[in-house]
Amino acid sequence: MGEKKKKIVKTIKVDADKCNGCRACEVICSAFHATPRYSSNNPARSRIRLIREPLRDIYLPVYAGEYTPAECAGRDKYVIEGKEYEECAFCRASCPSRDVFKEPDSGLPLKCDMCESDPDLEKPLCVQWCLVDALTYEEREEEVEEETELEELEIGLEALADKFGLDKMMDTVARMSLSKKE
Ligand code: SF4
Ligand code: SF4
Repeated sequence: MGEKKKKIVKTIKVDADKCNGCRACEVICSAFHATPRYSSNNPARSRIRLIREPLRDIYLPVYAGEYTPAECAGRDKYVIEGKEYEECAFCRASCPSRDVFKEPDSGLPLKCDMCESDPDLEKPLCVQWCLVDALTYEEREEEVEEETELEELEIGLEALADKFGLDKMMDTVARMSLSKKE
């Protein structure tokens, strides 16, 4: 058993009813993560994407979670308050069965990093740019096993290296750390 340690878990609560589909969250997220920082605002590089069907009044912001190497078997449609959502609508994974949450140049998975920067931002940028409060930033403290956390990281990195090759990963990491220094 590993040591227990306290960890701040950062999340973004989504209220789809409030979202008006403006896509400001996609703009600022992609600009913040561009290399050099703020040099472009391509939504394909955003770690938050909008499921947008104006004719059916559907606007659902989803921010990127873990990478998954295989498609899942679940193919349910969801009806919430009279609105029907597509099968993968609520999924936060970067997965082989759809194009979202993949870095356009390298194909590497994108994951929300809560706008990690030094010094820390008071709130993630997508939350700050959402003028209608569809996104709310929340922090809570949790106790986690130190070893489990490291194991999960190792498994995740191994799966990525298998799929994309170590060289490509190293290239991307180098580019990302360059953009953080700018
Ligand atoms: S900024 Fe807010 S209102 Fe605009 S698309 Fe994103 S979540 Fe929706
Ligand atoms: S918290 Fe930051 S990295 Fe995550 S989706 Fe929002 S803008 Fe992008």
